Amino acid sequence: MNNNELLAELLLGHIDKTPEYYENLYPARNLPEGARVVRIAPSPTGYLHLGTLFAALVNRITATSSGGIFFTRIEDTDKKREIEGGIEDIIDGLKRFGISIDEGFVSGAEQKGDYGPYQQSRRAEIYQSYAKELIKQGFAYPCFCTAEELEAVRSEQEAQKLRTGYYGKWAKHRDISYEEAKALIDEGKPFVVRLKSPGNEENKVVFEDTIKGKIEMPENDEDFVLLKSDGIPTYHFAHAVDDHLMRTTHVLRGDEWISSVPKHIQLFKILGFKLPKFGHISPIMKLENGAKRKISKRKDPEAAVHFFAEQGYDSECVINYLMTVAASDFEDWRRANPNASYKEFKFNLKKMSVSGALFDEVKLLDVSKNMVAKLSSSEVYQKLTEWAKEFDAEFYNILTKNPEYTKSVLAIDRDVPKPRKDIARWSEVKEYFAYMFEELFAPNFELPENIAADDAKAFLLEYKNVYSAEDDRQAWFDKIKEIAPKIGFAAETKQYKADPDAFKGHAGDLSTVLRIAITGRRNTPDLCSIMQVLGKDECIKRIDNAISNF
Ligand code: GLU
Repeated sequence: MNNNELLAELLLGHIDKTPEYYENLYPARNLPEGARVVRIAPSPTGYLHLGTLFAALVNRITATSSGGIFFTRIEDTDKKREIEGGIEDIIDGLKRFGISIDEGFVSGAEQKGDYGPYQQSRRAEIYQSYAKELIKQGFAYPCFCTAEELEAVRSEQEAQKLRTGYYGKWAKHRDISYEEAKALIDEGKPFVVRLKSPGNEENKVVFEDTIKGKIEMPENDEDFVLLKSDGIPTYHFAHAVDDHLMRTTHVLRGDEWISSVPKHIQLFKILGFKLPKFGHISPIMKLENGAKRKISKRKDPEAAVHFFAEQGYDSECVINYLMTVAASDFEDWRRANPNASYKEFKFNLKKMSVSGALFDEVKLLDVSKNMVAKLSSSEVYQKLTEWAKEFDAEFYNILTKNPEYTKSVLAIDRDVPKPRKDIARWSEVKEYFAYMFEELFAPNFELPENIAADDAKAFLLEYKNVYSAEDDRQAWFDKIKEIAPKIGFAAETKQYKADPDAFKGHAGDLSTVLRIAITGRRNTPDLCSIMQVLGKDECIKRIDNAISNF
């Protein structure tokens, strides 16, 4: 055995499987030409955040558009940062947003697919097998430097105004012999395995990023760590081994990884792996004091997708909004296909923002209003009660006390040809329709300044006598118009406008009086429908109450 082979046995003697074994175990996928195999690789270190959801959407839609595969892989190599239930939180969160998963973790506890395990902590032997091979070939070596030694190298480099890092002549153990390594191991010294980089900083690597276009960077010459002292891989090494063995065709990930691409290209090459295509997703940004910045997990509540659930955003609305962020041509497509599922959209990575799109809550509200307006009252009933059950128990009880009544409330201005676009979030419904529920109704006897209380009362007294719960919209308004001249109001707005001094107001003002009496508000959806749903007794009760209080 030569020095490298001896080192490989010394460091990773317990590994008996070769890379060849894994190559056979995970053969190339049998997919149609053009099918893209993509993934997300989240760490279970906290709640599902907007960036992960966005990356999942971009990957999911890439797979769907190309007839490919979207899988999840859990990066749980940092056990210290892991949180209990972290995997479940991410996977369930994705599912809640309708992101289906073809392979990998499909629930907190279940993985499916032939390319697993899809959890890095269970793949240690695989990484070690490849590391052993690299050591044998002289492309990797053990490094025994302590944190203090590395710090000393850094200070020295800084003092000499040199680029910092473990490279070239600064890489102390680059040429370590088997005997030296053995002696240190016998002393019980911990070590990491580093790449012996064949790169040269003067050279350039060029690659075509599928989102950002052509990128040129200096070649990597750093002997970066492949395996940490506990035998667990770094991100770089796990990414190369996993994405190769899982046969990923497109690595679409956050653009914080872009500066590491030279490392990855080098690793894939040395390992003899076919290079996947890389696409780096710009972060979602926020405007703060006129400047764009990344959405921050610490500062921004919307960074946690739980925020959207709590606020009562329908998950499909959030996804459709995120599609407008992901693809600059999505809105045009949406206009042309108002009722199609976003899944039918042909997604093109080239249409993604290169600099980072802004999170625009106003637009999210707008997308939501448009989508919620398309739902039927039974769909709204189902989604609204589901939301209330989790986030507003009081409202839930009110809504479900009489489901048929609640549905007829929700049908107001909804199950009609041109539904109102008023509601964006379920959390708005309670206030929006408060007057439809006894428990929430707050009467208000404040009239607009141009209407005298006596006139309002006179009108309501007349109206009470002619009102019928069966009136359709036309009959309903005709009755108001008929009363108008009797109390000095114009039946038609035109009439009033032609000679305002001749009238106290017009029929529209009287309908405002009625609206205030019935709902306590000046602005509501169609009042005739509201009165029909409330029913005669309730309407008369509210009218009487207004008469005594105006
Ligand atoms: N765990 C990495 C991250 O969340 C994964 C990056 C990747 O997709 O490769 O940033």
